[in-house]
Formats: sequence, structure tokens, C-alpha cells
Amino acid sequence: MSALLASLFWMLLFIGGGIYLAYQRVDLRTSTVAACLALIAYTIFGDGSLIWKFLLWLAFGAMVVPNLIEFRREKITKPLLRIYRTMLPKMSDTEREALEAGSVWWDGELFSGMPDWDRLMEYPAPTLSEEEQAFLAGPCEELCRMLDNWDIMHQRGDMSREVWDFIIANKFFAMIIPKKYGGLEFSAYANSCVTAKLASRSPIASSTVGVPNSLGPAELLLHYGTEEQKDRYLPGLASGAEIPCFALTSPEAGSDAASLIDSGVVCKGQWQGEEITGIRLNWNKRYITLAPIATVVGLAFKLYDPEHLIGEREDYGITAALIPVDTPGVEVGRRHMPLNVPFQNGPTTGKDVFLPLDCIIGGPEMAGKGWRMLVELLSVGRAITLPSTAAGGGQAAAYSSGAYTKLRKQFNTSIANFEGIGEALARIGGYTYIMNAAVSVTAGAIDQGEQPAVPSAILKYHCTELGRKVCNDTMDVHGGKAIMLGPTNYIGPGYMATPIAITVEGANILTRSLIIYGQGAMRCHPFVLRELHAASDEDTERGLIDFDEALFSHVGYGISNLARSVFLALTHAKFSRVPLNTPTRRFYQNINRYSAAFALASDFAMLTLGGALKKRELLSARLGDVLSSMYLASCVLKHFENQGRRATDLPLVEWSVRTLMYQAQEALHAFLRNHPNRWAAAILRLFIFPRGRTYSAPSDTIGNKIVKLMTTSGEARDRLSELAYTALEPGNPLGQLQEALELFEQLAPLEARLRQARKEGLIRAEDFGGQIAEAERAEVIGQNEAEKLRDYHDKVVALIAVDDFATDEFIRKRTAEGAPPVAVQADRANEPASGKKSTAKRKAQSA
Ligand SMILES: Cc1cc2nc3c(=O)[nH]c(=O)nc-3n(C[C@H](O)[C@H](O)[C@H](O)COP(=O)(O)OP(=O)(O)OC[C@H]3O[C@@H](n4cnc5c(N)ncnc54)[C@H](O)[C@@H]3O)c2cc1C
Repeated sequence: MSALLASLFWMLLFIGGGIYLAYQRVDLRTSTVAACLALIAYTIFGDGSLIWKFLLWLAFGAMVVPNLIEFRREKITKPLLRIYRTMLPKMSDTEREALEAGSVWWDGELFSGMPDWDRLMEYPAPTLSEEEQAFLAGPCEELCRMLDNWDIMHQRGDMSREVWDFIIANKFFAMIIPKKYGGLEFSAYANSCVTAKLASRSPIASSTVGVPNSLGPAELLLHYGTEEQKDRYLPGLASGAEIPCFALTSPEAGSDAASLIDSGVVCKGQWQGEEITGIRLNWNKRYITLAPIATVVGLAFKLYDPEHLIGEREDYGITAALIPVDTPGVEVGRRHMPLNVPFQNGPTTGKDVFLPLDCIIGGPEMAGKGWRMLVELLSVGRAITLPSTAAGGGQAAAYSSGAYTKLRKQFNTSIANFEGIGEALARIGGYTYIMNAAVSVTAGAIDQGEQPAVPSAILKYHCTELGRKVCNDTMDVHGGKAIMLGPTNYIGPGYMATPIAITVEGANILTRSLIIYGQGAMRCHPFVLRELHAASDEDTERGLIDFDEALFSHVGYGISNLARSVFLALTHAKFSRVPLNTPTRRFYQNINRYSAAFALASDFAMLTLGGALKKRELLSARLGDVLSSMYLASCVLKHFENQGRRATDLPLVEWSVRTLMYQAQEALHAFLRNHPNRWAAAILRLFIFPRGRTYSAPSDTIGNKIVKLMTTSGEARDRLSELAYTALEPGNPLGQLQEALELFEQLAPLEARLRQARKEGLIRAEDFGGQIAEAERAEVIGQNEAEKLRDYHDKVVALIAVDDFATDEFIRKRTAEGAPPVAVQADRANEPASGKKSTAKRKAQSA
């Protein structure tokens, strides 16, 4: 018995100690010393045979070798590096530039398998300055009030002139432009709040305002423009005298934008009466937002210098330039119709447009750097405009659906009381909470100087997808009310706009399949990029040293992830360290667990599939889903802290994290199930799911709590939709729904009296109006109470009403007054019948 106990003790010491050291990521040297001490103790006190002890010392020798740095470098790393170089996947310049763009932030921690939560928690909660708050409460609310989706979409085909002038006069297009150029110089967080508020009211306005504040000429100039270019364009862009657009997409180059064939050839030409060296440009772009009314086109094209007028190279690659539309040969003016959401969007072409070299953003020395500029800026812009639009739409959906389902009755009860509707409502609320959290936490990080490239792609994909799901559920819970278009339909416009967000700024299937994990694996992995750089270092000696260091750290990281993954899975992560002792504690621990499992699976995928992983889109998409779920769940936890840990929000937090981590579990399962190497995947499964798939999706009970929160007026409902435009005024359904919901709550006791009276046979009418009249006559309720009920009833009837039209009203009357900025409008009077406009003078005179 005592021999058995002794054996158990030594086993525990060696195996448990080994797992502990690996779990804690104790460095190699300390681990070797610890192993040595344990072995000495075992050799002296252990009762194993001499052969067994000798074998253990032999194994220890293998552990010592990596400590002999010079030796391991020559004998182990050098041959491995040779093999690694032959295996290196070919990388194009554009891929390399995409990989190097932006910074690594919380995504890197999740990739580490051991996230340092303190790093996330230290980030301050994003706040708005007084000026930004005043803008949201002032011009932004006012603009929302002015917007009328029905008029824009079905009558005018554009926002009214009054609205355009208001947008420009209040500098909605200049949120990112510094004050010294006349802009508003808002934070990323403020920019996202304005976009979300506008999106809660009108997709046309949020798309229109989003573009100049996202990837466009202003952003490009601010980061890469010469001082001269900034002085020339930024004041005009801030005042609205210049209307920008950015043209990258062409018919042959959509998702594969880098394959564009639009060209600029360096040559001699005439410019203002003199012969100069300039660029002759030809392009054919489509889908360009604001192009029809732009005065300046940011253009991406490939630059060639066949006569070597500016240097040795002939082919410079993708370059970005600013093209005034009044340059001869430029054509803008025609419009596309993006799904009946008529924001200004159209094609632009240029034929033999000649401009001086200083049209290149950043001047001639930035020739060929266009792709890098774009991907760098995308690493910020993609996290703001479209995710905030989706979040704003979600907020409006949550607010309206919560109230509508309470007010709308079928089978003698609010439809919110039906479990099926409740399930959809919980999704609307939960997904909206996730979007809110992701947008505000990521915008906060951007304001702290991060350029989070991978999180931007995560937000772009997931927020727009969640937005689409929320929209579908909102349609469903509203039934026919959402389908009948007309001035009173507040859901249809958002529903029609949803696919636009899915398609732009990197279409979603591509973003999920190629970008999130493709970029993340290289960019956020703690060692892969270092190994890649070291292997391609021209200084081979330095390359060997760096590669050796990265490789052995990588091996240690792999061993640690193996230990962490299995230990955290076996213990349900109950002992893992987290920063807070709050009701959300377990959620941090669950993310810790999946972070280790993900890091392990990720290394496994790269090791077993190598460069082929790029082509196995579904495998890499699933790993990307795990990373995304962890990122979004972390944002939820941080958002909950940022908002002051409101207990009433706990159901939303629990629902969100559970949903996301359940998805992470299922994505990992699907990854293992579909990995081509079945044996290796089966072994890996033992380390990731040693107890099977034990994580559960949110329960119905949590869902019911969310339904209550969404359908009852109060701070939690308000906070979930805090940016939505909810003012109580004619034409704003959100305000009217809230008003009716409050009446519903106040008058609930009266309604109960009516129901009781009906049961007792005091009143007999089937309809609510009739019941009120009878109850008043039977003195079940007083006159005052009857009036209140009648008023409430009228409001509900108006809210559930839909529009109908005389047949001849179906013929749309688009007024010519659909109105871009005044000056552009004035110019358009001289347009050729085709609507195409060459060498147009589009400079605004009125700004
Ligand atoms: C309303 C609107 C506004 C726009 N505004 C602008 C603008 O201002 N400026 C600008 O330059 N562009 C703009 N665009 C263009 C937009 O960025 C492109 O539409 C987008 O990049 C996709 O290109 P595509 O439409 O040609 O689709 P395609 O490239 O033909 O893609 C079709 C489908 O194939 C998928 N796909 C492609 N490659 C892969 C792959 N490797 N793996 C998996 N799936 C793949 C895509 O995800 C997509 O689902 C706008 C587009 C729209 C619709």
C-alpha cells in the first residue's frame, strides 16, 4: 500500500508538476532546473529500479539540449530553417501589405491561449466630449427629425435639398477632419455614435454620412497627404464645398480589388499651357458611393512608367490619387439604384485624364503605395461605419419590437407572451447587445491609438451578419405590418438596406473565409510572423538567431497550450485566473478555456495543412469563427464593466456570452470533424473536448428575462437602445411606440378590470373599443378612465395600421427636386440628357 502511495506521489510530482509548469508558461531554464531537482529527489528517495532512473535521466538530457543555445541553433534550428524556407507559402506584395497593416491588440491576447485580462480592463471606457454630446443631442437629433424614408425612397429618390444643406452646414461630412482645417475632429467613438443614431432612423442618411468619414479622400489625405494637398482639399471637404468619393471597385475587380486594370501612365503632357511630366489616367469604376455628386474622386489605379520618367521602375503597382471631377475626361453623374435605398451611388469613368504627378496622394514618392494605404485605413474604418450602422439598426429594432409585441394582441394576449415570439425577441436583444459592445469597445481602443486590423474584419463581418439576423427577426415578429411598404413602415427600409452592408468593404463570405483567420493567423499569432520574417531575412546569420528564438518559444507555447487546453477542459476552467470576482467571473474563465483550445487548434492546422490552409476556406473560416466569438464575448464583458456593471443587464450579458461561446465550441467541433487528417484530429479532440461538448447555449429562462427587459419600459430597455432616435414626435414610430407602451403599463389595471367584467358578463363586446364603451356604461370604469383607455386604444390602432394606396398612386412621382448639395444641383440643370457629365464644374458655390 505504501509503495503504491509512493508511486502515486512521484507520478503526481512529475506529471502534475510538468502540467503545472506548462500551464503557467514557466520558461525553459526554470522548468529544466525544476525537473532536475525533482529527478535528484527521485533518484535519492524513489524506489524505482536503476534502469528506470537511468531512462528518466536520459529523458532529462533531451530537455537540457534546447538550453544549449549555440548547439541547438547549429544542430537543430539550421536544418529546420532550411526545410521551412522550402515550405514557405508564396505571398504577393498585396498579401504582405495586408498582413503588415494595423496593430495587434486584444486579438493577439486571444491568440496567445492565455489572455491577459488586465490589459483589456485597463482600457478606459469610451466617453463623449461635451461638444460631441451636444452634436448628438443637437444637429444629429435634428437631422433624424428631418429624415423621411418614404419620401426619400419612393417619392424623391434622394434626400431633400433641405436635408442635404443641413448635413453640409453642420459638417456631418467632416467628423474626422481636424479643427484646424475646419472639421469637427471627433473621436472614433463619437463618429460611431452619430452613425448609429442616423442608422436607427434612416439607412440612406447613415450610408451617405458614413462614407466621407470612413475610407475616403479625407482619411487618405490626413494620413498620407502632403501638407500642400491637405491645405488644398481638407478645408473644402470640411465645409462641404468639396464632395468626396473613393473609387476602387471596377467591373473586373470586385472582391479581388487588387486585380484592377485601371491605369495611369507617366508621360509628358500639357497642363495649364505648359508641358509637364504627369499621369494619363483611364478608368472604369462602378458602385461608387457619392460618385454621382462628387467634386473630387479618390482613385485607385495601377501606375506605369514605361519611359522611366520618374525612376528605374516600369510598374509601380496600385497607387491612390485625387482627381477633381472638372478635369477634362472625367465622367460622373449617373446613378445605380442600390436595392431601392437611393443613397448617391454610381459609376465613374475617366478617359485620357491628364494630371500633374502631385495628384498622387502623398506625392510621387507614394507611387505604388496605394494598396498599403487602403488596407491600413481599412483596419480602422471597417470597425466604425458598417458595424455602427448595424448596431444602430439593431437598437431601433430592439426598441420597436419590444414595444410592438407588447401592444399587438392576438388570441387575447400580447404576442410577446408567446414563447416563439420571445425566442426571436431574445435574439434581437442579445445580438443588439453584442453589436453595441463590439462597436463601443473597439472604437474606444481606436481612440487609444490602436489600429485593430483583425478586430475590424471581425466587426465588419459579424455586426453586419448579426444586423441581418436582427432584421429578419424584426420582420417576423411584426408580421404583415413589416411587409406593407408605406410611410408608416419603419422596418422595410432597414430590411432592404441590410444586404448592402453585407456586400461592401469586403463582401462577407470572403471576409469570413479568407480575411479574419487568414490575417489573424499570421498577424496575431505570437510567433508565426516572427518566424516568417526571420526565414526571409537577407542577413542569414541574424535570420537564424531570430528564427531559433521564435521557433523554440513557439514549441514552448504549443506545449503550454496542450496542457492548458486539456486542464481547462477537464476542470471547466473553474480554477483559471480572471481579473474580477463578479457574477460574470465564469464567462472570463470560459473564454480562457477556448483561447487555449483555439491556440492549440490553430497551431495544429498550420502544422498539418501548411500553405494549403489558405485553400481550405471552411476550416479557416471556422477557426475565424472561434476567434470572432471570443473577441465579441470579451467585448460584451468589457462593455458590461464600461457601463458600470448594471445588474439589470446581466441577462443580456449571459445570453450573449453563452451564445458566442457555444458557437465557438460548435465551430471547433466542426473544424475537428472536417479536418482531413482524421487520426490527428481524433487525438487533438482528446485535448480539446476530453469531456465532450459540454458548453450549453442560453436557456429559455435567460431568454425570457431578456423578453421582459425589452418589453417593459425602464433603464435596461433604454440602455440597450441608447443611441436610437426615440424622440416623441409625429413621424417617429419609435417615440410613439414607447409612449403607447408606457400607457399600456399605466392602464394595465383598467384593462384587467375590463377583462374581469367580461368574465362576469357585465360587458359583452369583442372589440376593445366596444368594451370600453360598455364598461363605461356599466360603471365598471369612470369617464376619465374610459377616455384614457380610448386615447391609448387610438394610439395602438394607429401604430398597427398599415398604408394602402389608390392604384394610380403606385406610379411613383419622383420630383426633380431630389437634392444633392445646392451647388451640385444648380450645375445639374446643364447636364446632357444621358445624365453623364463630362468636365463638370461641381465645386459648390454655396457652402
Ligand atoms: C451599395 C454599394 C456601395 C459601394 N461603395 C463603394 C465605394 O464607395 N467605393 C468602392 O470602391 N467600392 C464600393 N462598392 C464595391 C464593394 O466594395 C464591392 O461590391 C465588393 O468589394 C464586392 O465586389 P463584387 O460586388 O464585385 O462581388 P464579387 O467580387 O463578384 O463577389 C461575389 C461573391 O463572391 C464571394 N467571393 C469572392 N471571392 C471569394 C473568395 N476568395 N472566397 C470566398 N468568397 C469569395 C464574395 O464574398 C461575394 O459573396 C460598393 C458596393 C455596393 C453594393
